[in-house]
Amino acid sequence: MELFNSVHESGHEQIVFCHNKDVDLRAIIAIHDTTLGPALGGTRMWPYATEEEALQDVLRLSRGMTYKAAVSGLNLGGGKAVIIGDPRKDKSEALFRAFGRFIDSLHGRYITAEDVGIDVNDMEFIFQETNNVVGVHQVHGGSGDPSPYTAYGSIQGMKAALQKKFGDEDLSRYSFAVQGTGHVGLHLVRQLIKEGAKVFVTDINQDTIDDAVELGAEAVGQEEIYDVDADVFAPCALGAIVNEDTIPRFKFKIVAGPANNQLANNEAGNELERRGILYAPDYAVNAGGLMNVSIEFEGWNHERALRMMRTIYYNVGRIFKIAERDGIPSWQAADRMAEERIETLGKLKIPHLGKPHRFPGRERNAAH
Ligand code: NAD
Repeated sequence: MELFNSVHESGHEQIVFCHNKDVDLRAIIAIHDTTLGPALGGTRMWPYATEEEALQDVLRLSRGMTYKAAVSGLNLGGGKAVIIGDPRKDKSEALFRAFGRFIDSLHGRYITAEDVGIDVNDMEFIFQETNNVVGVHQVHGGSGDPSPYTAYGSIQGMKAALQKKFGDEDLSRYSFAVQGTGHVGLHLVRQLIKEGAKVFVTDINQDTIDDAVELGAEAVGQEEIYDVDADVFAPCALGAIVNEDTIPRFKFKIVAGPANNQLANNEAGNELERRGILYAPDYAVNAGGLMNVSIEFEGWNHERALRMMRTIYYNVGRIFKIAERDGIPSWQAADRMAEERIETLGKLKIPHLGKPHRFPGRERNAAH
């Protein structure tokens, strides 16, 4: 009963518990909302301390996917899966193939992709059992590494924020503090510097800092990044870095970047608003990763991907308009935009399309 209460509260449609005794598969697939289309979201493999923790994670992540897809104008619902296990020692072909069969049994209601703890080789095993996988290797017609596209999409979100804040989006006139120069961060730095922007970077890994400096960025310390006198703070590493300790240090005018879950809580979003710091909601800015895999349904190509990334500019701009319309902070406006789209499209009644009617026993004879 408690489980149903949890699910009732979060509004999930379906939770699937997957177990295979022979390979000790313990996985949960959560389908949050399929109003807009099939539920798409990655599979995460993690050594959760308890089953409760795994369930809470998959419920939270799958709900987040519904909002990300909805705000990004995609015809997709939200879903996610977790495999309970240690990715360093519990992986096997049989485990992933058993899991792939469970995904296949959902007949496309859930489509999976890579997430934390899962790599392209694991996806290959899942792909042997089901077609309902995106983000497979490019040799299979997949979209490959999403990070350059996520970076490009994030820049579109930053431009929308610059336009809103300064009425101008020429990147060469602004400075950026990039926290994390990993897969997405380094592409972001490269693209910003190419546009003539001033870029400060930090990371815990000296090698990637060196790569960014070679591109023309200026390195600062891990803690120093919060104090940098730059126009835009671009989180590209951890979550919850916009919080009660860091916000008072900000000289930034904008927070916009690809990292997931940047706000420690809603109050952090309210505080940015009170201080006049414009926040471009993370799940709209970083939707490039999801958009990139979604293109696989039509056949992925580079031009299609870039074209779709550019819609992030309009999505983020629309969030700011809703915030203004309703007098609410931008984090809340993003949620509202997603909910409004799901509600409106969910209720849409299409006029009758005029399919030919068939009356048994009344078929005309071709000779007449
Ligand atoms: P990544 O692991 O390649 O890069 C993260 C970088 O952050 C690493 O270089 C790491 O050393 C650094 N880092 C970790 N802790 C740090 C700290 N305390 N201070 C400074 N740097 C620190 O990951 P990624 O794929 O580049 O993703 C970055 C963020 O963007 C994540 O939040 C991810 O969820 C989000 N995101 C990524 C994609 C994508 O396409 N890869 C899509 C959507 C969202």
